[in-house]
Amino acid sequence: MKTSVSAVVSADYESLLRSESYIDGAWVAQEAGRRFAVTNPASGLVIAHVPDMGRDEALRAVEAAGRAFVSWRQLLARERGRYLRRWNELIVTHADALAALLSAEQGKPLAEARGEVLSGAANVEWFAEEGQRIYGDTIPTHKADARVIVMKEPVGVVAAITPWNFPSSMITRKVAPALAAGCTVVLKPAEDTPLSALALAALAQEAGIPAGVFNVVTASLTSAPEVGEVLTTHPLVRKVSFTGSTEVGKILMRQSASTIKRLSLELGGNAPFIIFDSADLPRAVEGAIGSKFRNAGQTCICANRIYVQDRVYDEFARLFTEKVKALHVGPGDQPGVQVGPLINQAAIDKVKQHIQDAQAHGAKLLCGGGSHEAGPLFFQPTVLGDMASVMRVSREETFGPVAGLFRFRDEAEVTRLANDTAYGLAAYFYSRDLGQVFRVAEALEYGMVGINEPLLAAASAPFGGVKESGIGREGSHYGINDFINIKYLLVGGLSSPA
Ligand code: ADP
Repeated sequence: MKTSVSAVVSADYESLLRSESYIDGAWVAQEAGRRFAVTNPASGLVIAHVPDMGRDEALRAVEAAGRAFVSWRQLLARERGRYLRRWNELIVTHADALAALLSAEQGKPLAEARGEVLSGAANVEWFAEEGQRIYGDTIPTHKADARVIVMKEPVGVVAAITPWNFPSSMITRKVAPALAAGCTVVLKPAEDTPLSALALAALAQEAGIPAGVFNVVTASLTSAPEVGEVLTTHPLVRKVSFTGSTEVGKILMRQSASTIKRLSLELGGNAPFIIFDSADLPRAVEGAIGSKFRNAGQTCICANRIYVQDRVYDEFARLFTEKVKALHVGPGDQPGVQVGPLINQAAIDKVKQHIQDAQAHGAKLLCGGGSHEAGPLFFQPTVLGDMASVMRVSREETFGPVAGLFRFRDEAEVTRLANDTAYGLAAYFYSRDLGQVFRVAEALEYGMVGINEPLLAAASAPFGGVKESGIGREGSHYGINDFINIKYLLVGGLSSPA
């Protein structure tokens, strides 16, 4: 039974493993045959070579999306919803193969990859419905013989640029609301993980989503700026939706200024994770492990600074370190693995630098701290104690399996420390003191706050940040607003005949 299931999954995997870009409903190579390699970070082996597209292909994709927009926006919301539901069903049906592909190109454990694929599908399902509830308004008139009507319209062609850490769900979180609202999309997936994007496009094609409505243009890191320039400056593109680093977000924002594009930016974070002495400690330990080590610490909302109140610090540090030591590190496709490889050598280098910097400033190594024997891109889950604000971990995203524990005295001190960052994406705290829960939740300058809970993302909830963590929200009815223009109609001359 096991073998036949694997054979089915493996045939499915092969059929979803695409090595062309998807433009205007066709699978296309780069004209001069330029390609780049996609490698498995666990093994270092090449999985596929995909087209290294540039300016010309990006232009073709934008123009195709512009043509497709004319008829896609005319469909009833219910008709667009049907396409999206069919896409969702196909993603769910192929979840095992999609998870295998995701894990192969990105490294995360299979169970996590499957979770991501299904949460990505849930975005599509949710927006298939929500697209039918983009209600306008009538507003009490300011003129006796006129009426005021507010209509909602799709913004037009949307450019989406996505990162490698969630190669599947970051795509559906943008594409599903865009398509539901009547927009068409050109997507440039991350160079490390284009295969999940292409597999999603194959399923969108199978779902019958018309040519040009959803386009995927793959590009290497070298060509990304060229493609990005077309996507942020072409007058047909009316909105740019980006998830990635604050640094690249600023470049795209500057470029988008040339044509005043709408922008949604989901950028970096440096999440504080606060444990007050009233917390349910075992629950806080579990939460911190989940938040910190999911996806090997490569999530923009993962705990970066773990603040523990004096009275419970030692106990927390002991329980937490014990659990971290027990985490199972290895290739994502092996049973029981909890922490996979990091995405590339640059990620390993950054993690090492953050550890060295912390130790140089007096941090104490409680476990881990070095490379892992599973392979060059594996790193030992690491805990550092006695962390301080001068350290790089306090200011920069570590994006790896390193947990830094900071000691604090009281609520006022920790809220000040928690907010002392340019970022404002996610924050977490554990407390059973109801007054404190509301005081701290309101004082934290963040777009999302997890209170006694580490897992924030859901299709129905608004995901996004403040400060340098971004603009706009994804998910929920707030998320669809980012793809909608408001049009005000003043209908005059309505007075009755004399
Ligand atoms: P990370 O640091 O997580 O790799 P990046 O911000 O570098 O995040 O990358 C996120 C996405 O932005 C990827 O798809 C990448 O190819 C793309 N990207 C990077 N630089 C540019 C650029 N100059 N223009 C357009 N896209 C870019």
